[in-house]
Amino acid sequence: MHIITTRESLKEYLKIQSELGISIGFVPTMGALHEGHLELIKKAKIENDKVVCSIFVNSLQFNNQEDFDKYPITIESDENKLVSEGCDVLFLPTRKEVFVEEPNLDYDFGQMAEVMEGEYRPGHFLGMAAVVEAFFNLIKPTRSYFGEKDYQQLAIVKKLVKEKKISTDIIACATVRNSKGLALSSRNLRLTKQEVLVASELYQAMSYCKENKQLQPNELISQTIEKLKSNFDIEYFVIADENSLKPIDKWAETDVPRAFVAANLSGVRLIDNMSLID
Ligand code: AMP
Repeated sequence: MHIITTRESLKEYLKIQSELGISIGFVPTMGALHEGHLELIKKAKIENDKVVCSIFVNSLQFNNQEDFDKYPITIESDENKLVSEGCDVLFLPTRKEVFVEEPNLDYDFGQMAEVMEGEYRPGHFLGMAAVVEAFFNLIKPTRSYFGEKDYQQLAIVKKLVKEKKISTDIIACATVRNSKGLALSSRNLRLTKQEVLVASELYQAMSYCKENKQLQPNELISQTIEKLKSNFDIEYFVIADENSLKPIDKWAETDVPRAFVAANLSGVRLIDNMSLID
């Protein structure tokens, strides 16, 4: 695996690949890699000639300094995992290599970016879009891989690509969970064993909504919040249409409902989502 830290060296590598007509699968990450990330790498490996994975903890998308400071960094083990998956390039840039100029962050994703994460993490999607767009422009990947774990991010990246006419196919990958249903996340490294068990209540809560659609969304939401609030500091529990991300109070045939949650457990912020369609 090539480990590349500068945009110039990456461009050189990519120029050779492009002359050979080789397809590039791109997997952007913030590191502390787990099976969820590796599923993206595996899929990219199957569908492309070469796979580029980036690890860059993007300060622009953190609205909470403590969350940024405590973000786990495990580069050595990340490298080993990527080698085992047959990843071709690990791009490990500094901020200066990602942004040649300071990004101006003048995106407008409309209502889609104002709800849920957009409401609770002001500026998060602007910072995320800036780094993803910078990577797309530099790497020009044939296909780019994003997890449904960050469903709202995935929706906004699709919108970014469409609006800016960026030529890469966005490939969505299903959320990878542990045996109790907890979505794998780099932040789970900050939970104790006991807390990891408690954290799976988020999965159970969304499953309850899926299995009890005889109740209206607003009833499901209030019951769920009531159940979760003894263990979690809940930021939101929302049922929304998965295309528009508009919250749903009452079932309607035109909506494709999905549950979305953000909750803090012992100071660790967890997010998850689940389709409510069988
Ligand atoms: P992150 O390193 O958290 O920025 O995540 C990098 C990519 O991996 C994003 O597209 C995430 O949605 C995806 N990802 C993170 N956790 C999971 C998971 N448990 N299952 C599937 N994809 C994931």
